[in-house]
Amino acid sequence: MAETAEPLQQAWALSYQDATASLALARTLRVTEGIDPAEAQLLVALGAVRLVPVLEARHELEQARRLCAAAQPHSRAEWGQALCDEFEAMLHRREGDVEGSARLQAEADARPAGPRSAMDRFIAQNSRAITTKLLGRAEDSLRHLHAALDAAQQTGWPGPVISACVNLGDRHHDLYNLEDARQFSLQGLNAATAAGAKLAQLVATCNLIYIHHALGEQREAHAMGLNLAALLPGETSEQVLDMTPPLALGWMAGADPVRAEQLLRDVQHANVREPASQWSLAWGWQMARCCLMQGRTDEGLAVAQQALQASEAAGGAKPCYDLMVLHRTLSDAAEQTAQPDLALKHLREAHAVYEQLVGRSARARYIALDVTHQLAQARHERDVAVDGRRSVEHDRQRLSELNAALQAQMAETQRLHEQLREQALRDPLTGLHNRRYLFELAPGLLEQARRQQQALSVVLLDLDHFKLLNDTCGHAAGDLVLQRFATLLAETLRRSDVICRHGGEEFVALMPNTQADEAEAVMQRLLETFSALQLELGRRRLPRGTFSAGIALFPGHGSTLEQLLSRADRALYAAKHQGRARIELVPRSDFTSLS
Ligand code: GH3
Ligand code: MG
Ligand code: MG
Repeated sequence: MAETAEPLQQAWALSYQDATASLALARTLRVTEGIDPAEAQLLVALGAVRLVPVLEARHELEQARRLCAAAQPHSRAEWGQALCDEFEAMLHRREGDVEGSARLQAEADARPAGPRSAMDRFIAQNSRAITTKLLGRAEDSLRHLHAALDAAQQTGWPGPVISACVNLGDRHHDLYNLEDARQFSLQGLNAATAAGAKLAQLVATCNLIYIHHALGEQREAHAMGLNLAALLPGETSEQVLDMTPPLALGWMAGADPVRAEQLLRDVQHANVREPASQWSLAWGWQMARCCLMQGRTDEGLAVAQQALQASEAAGGAKPCYDLMVLHRTLSDAAEQTAQPDLALKHLREAHAVYEQLVGRSARARYIALDVTHQLAQARHERDVAVDGRRSVEHDRQRLSELNAALQAQMAETQRLHEQLREQALRDPLTGLHNRRYLFELAPGLLEQARRQQQALSVVLLDLDHFKLLNDTCGHAAGDLVLQRFATLLAETLRRSDVICRHGGEEFVALMPNTQADEAEAVMQRLLETFSALQLELGRRRLPRGTFSAGIALFPGHGSTLEQLLSRADRALYAAKHQGRARIELVPRSDFTSLS
């Protein structure tokens, strides 16, 4: 904060960046002449409900209620009471009464809201995100966090943005949406580093170690581990305990199981958590992996089995990443100790957990896209309503900025060419998403298009005479063409389009907010580029290739992906029949009637 900033504003700005400093500042402000004591006390209460013992916090909150009740004008008194209600909900949560916290929040949401600042909205949304997470409503939590980020960005202060980004990274990670998890965590980490927000740096760094590891990015996981090691000195022993499994994972990613194992052993006895907790699961599989990495297979198997048994005896863990990896570790250990049946059993278990995670991942991705869109829309409408004097040009620019932000977020997906560790999400040859992911994501996209009354084009593409290429130039040539075609496809389409390898030499593109003739124009351009592409394999020049495509339009040609693909397939068939190297739309007469 600039030194010239108004001191109360400075305390608000600090409240989610360095809560301790904010609380200390607020305490001095409430006895500073010329400062509104009610607002200063509100800030003290906000710090207290998060930092000091509950009894003392309650006292500060009651004090805030008293001062706010007397505030003038009436709207200011109401504003103060509304914030006190928010703080009360936080306090309930700290006391372990999460249901009570949720009830208070629901009551607050049912009351007509007075004018609220961006910070008020951030506090409310962030708090709802925490409460819903504790209640196990992960998707609601995600929606609240996206709204919190939106409000945070409007505060103009780094603290709320850091907090929202780090939490979003964590939540997307919980939901196994690793790409968004990585993006938000990195964004949060960079902002926290720039602002010197140490706790947020620690949390984001730990999350990133797991995220990189899950994405198979060992080098990055190791680098984050080194960052974490540099950040840890000076932290409380409780913090250090929390951060030991990620730190150990960082060493494992750097191929140093000896050091990782030492760390894990050091904290083994200090841990008092439930055996079904994420911490204990993470500890178990990591220790087992350390043993396996050092060739102690029997011990590795025993450690992992103990972790699983302890977890099951404590009621079993919910499906989560650590549980999946624990099963996978068990499977590897069983295989290395020549027990194929056991290996298969755990591989199946791992896969069952994985199936659930993938479903959540696609949902989380969809929520991220959907919420961002809704917020952009709402903000646009509000901007127009609030300030009718502003020129249309300005609104347009704002909207295009918001769209750019949305596009940037989605760009992340396309930039990922490193293979995901979990192959069921992506096709290993081309790096595109596969059919499975397409079918997970499509219902959400179609629903979004329906609500927004927008068209969505579904394109089915098939390379021409591809078998001939394989037969004459070899399979490696075929693979190269598939890869280059996939790259070209990704480069030509928009970042918001969803592209996947449907199988063999067939691809599917879902193009939201795109009419059939627009999709056709894009495909025509792609066809021109592709048919001009001269590839070489070794010293051999490969023959130039073409493709054919069929386009179906939502909602005219069907309401589900299956229906749309079947229509697009008919159009593709027509394109092949008419000589290939062409794009066909579903003929007009082929429109289904809409009920
Ligand atoms: P059309 O123009 O009618 O589409 O003819 P086509 O030869 O492209 O179609 P067909 O379905 O007869 O052959 C597709 C070929 O694609 C057969 C299969 O071997 C090849 N193929 C499928 N997947 C891969 C792959 O991953 N790599 C390579 N190199 N070839 C593949
Ligand atoms: Mg084919
Ligand atoms: Mg073909």
